[in-house]
Amino acid sequence: MVATISGKPYLGATLDPAEATREAMAVAKTGLLPVVEIFYSLQGEGQRTGQATVFVRFAGCNLACEFCDTDFRVKETYTVEALADEIRRIGGSCRWVCFTGGEPTLQDLQRLCDLLHASGYRLQIETNGIRPHPGWQLDHVTVSPKQPQGGRLHPWYEENASEFKYVVDDDADLARALEGVRTHGRMTFVQPNALNPAAVALCVDAVQTHPTLLRLSLQTHKFLQIR
Ligand code: SF4
Repeated sequence: MVATISGKPYLGATLDPAEATREAMAVAKTGLLPVVEIFYSLQGEGQRTGQATVFVRFAGCNLACEFCDTDFRVKETYTVEALADEIRRIGGSCRWVCFTGGEPTLQDLQRLCDLLHASGYRLQIETNGIRPHPGWQLDHVTVSPKQPQGGRLHPWYEENASEFKYVVDDDADLARALEGVRTHGRMTFVQPNALNPAAVALCVDAVQTHPTLLRLSLQTHKFLQIR
């Protein structure tokens, strides 16, 4: 299930990503949804920056990127109905929900999408884009490709993603972003990794050099010191 990276230590917050994913999928088999956390904040990245959003982080991932700073171990389990209720309780009049992870397409979220749409929410997903599109009705699909970490982008996303977001640390990451946007032609953001000043400068220069191809995304929630 999990593509590990040979020869590189895994530095992520989930100490054993394969075990965390096995646990998440075991929960899913019981009909419950394995969740890390639910919180209400502002979308900090990409095209939807600044919009109030309820985030649902699902447990488990199909990759184990060495730079991953996300803990995707199961912390809570919900029935679909209970999770929808909790989203409504936390979000109040907020109209956006973002499914993130880990990798949210590992879960069956069809019924949750139906319930939330019926309640008037718009739904975003943040995915690494490796698994086939799950077929749920989604309003905003954000792909953060992780090809160097062992995954091949599924072609559906090249035709249909709302936006691509490439995390950039160095020239090689930037080259992948440019290769990606020249291939799929979708709205594409370069996002400096962890506000590293050298990466910020690299991204700003790249957007100025390729103004019709790239946009800058900053992790504004980190500037604001909110989640
Ligand atoms: S795809 Fe995302 S959540 Fe999964 S291991 Fe990589 S960085 Fe972490």
